[in-house]
Amino acid sequence: MGYPIQLVGLEGKRVLLAGGGPVAAEKVAPLIHAGANVHLVTPEVSAEMEEWLPKVHRFDRRLVTDEDVPGARVVVGATDDPAVNARLVEVARGLGILAQAADDKPNCDFYSPAIVRRGPVVMTISTDGGSPLLAGQLRRALEAAVPRSVTDVGELLVRLRERGLKGLANRGRMLRALFDPTITRLVDRGATEAAADRLEELFREEEESFEPGTVAIVGAGPGSRQLLTLRALDRIQRADVVLRDALVEEEVLRLALPGTEVIDVGRRSRAMLPNETPADIERIPLMVEYARAGKRVVRLHGGDSFVFGRGGEEVDALREAGIPWEIVPGVSSVLAAGAASGTPLTKRGVARGFTVRSGHDTGGPTRGELPADEETVVVLMGLGAADAVLAGLIAEGRSPDTPAIAVSRASRADERIVAGTLATLAAAIGAAELPAPATLIIGEVARDAGRQKDHEDAAPATAGAA
Ligand code: SAH
Repeated sequence: MGYPIQLVGLEGKRVLLAGGGPVAAEKVAPLIHAGANVHLVTPEVSAEMEEWLPKVHRFDRRLVTDEDVPGARVVVGATDDPAVNARLVEVARGLGILAQAADDKPNCDFYSPAIVRRGPVVMTISTDGGSPLLAGQLRRALEAAVPRSVTDVGELLVRLRERGLKGLANRGRMLRALFDPTITRLVDRGATEAAADRLEELFREEEESFEPGTVAIVGAGPGSRQLLTLRALDRIQRADVVLRDALVEEEVLRLALPGTEVIDVGRRSRAMLPNETPADIERIPLMVEYARAGKRVVRLHGGDSFVFGRGGEEVDALREAGIPWEIVPGVSSVLAAGAASGTPLTKRGVARGFTVRSGHDTGGPTRGELPADEETVVVLMGLGAADAVLAGLIAEGRSPDTPAIAVSRASRADERIVAGTLATLAAAIGAAELPAPATLIIGEVARDAGRQKDHEDAAPATAGAA
């Protein structure tokens, strides 16, 4: 037999409780916790019941009668006389009042469940009146399994409902807001008030538009998913199709939701060459085709799409095709390499500016207006031709002693830094067998690179040190 309606609101309602023994005392506690106005009728009071007397709404020290029943919301017969209890149930039922005779299953309209409470969240366990022992056991298991913080989350949700933030249509937004890391952190700190405000703010935040048939050109950053922007994450998770570069890390792609089509359009060795190969040409029509078919398309680049990426050409093509697009900037490896090695690209009194160059472009001086010794040079795609790149910089008039570093796989778990000078770095890179992708940083700013971080020539292993 089932009990589809489980909880009866008793707050401020009269509940008749007949009996003063240990069984009645067991019944009184949950009634009082529920806010009921308990009307206790009993000629004798046990020690267990004695404690509850101050909280009882009305106490009549006498035998219970039929006249006590009318007007009660619920009636509980817990005297030591089963006939008296059964009689109370009979009278109550006649008046349409829910009633229960203790330890007398046929005379129970309801059972008192075991309860686990977490603020507004109430979990009840019923064994159909069969085994309070088992119910108690399960209650303890639940107590242990459901964290206390559910109380705060529950209170938050109740409050938001009161403010009208409910309904099926809102469910997704609510869940998104509720699982925002800021909310979890505030709740953990017990800052429920701040969490409620922030939740409401998140809830009301308009979702940014990412219409079907548009292309988002997104910078995925240098590798670690921790360096994605929130907007990049949003577009990746709302995309129908992701066209990815070879340089985009798996851990970023795993953030795409199941069902997202991920297509590798990268050519690791040639992606950045200025002359297009047939494979490169495919990439743009593919993007256009998906957008025209009404998909939300994400074109995902390593780093930033506009720094030695193909973002520029892609925008040209999308403009040409009349397809709406947006650019979501990413953390370029230019910045990530500086960050990984603790190398500022500009620094007061040391470097007045920086230039970013391609290592595929070793054909002549590209330096700007700044004196060579005051300018940082960042070289992307310069690992393979490091010796030519570095020699070229010496030929431009830089001192061979200028500090120079290579930062390999910045922000990834296997990030490495090799340090040297314009004269020595190429050999050091070779000796270290430094893996791609790597970025070179040349300039006085790199003198302290990697200090307090492990890198290969600054901290020679000192075996046997005490
Ligand atoms: N658009 C990208 C650059 C693409 S060119 C950006 O903004 O970062 C590819 C070059 O980027 C590589 O040859 C390497 O020099 C650099 N690069 C990419 N990821 C890197 C990383 N995690 N660490 C160091 N350099 C990286």
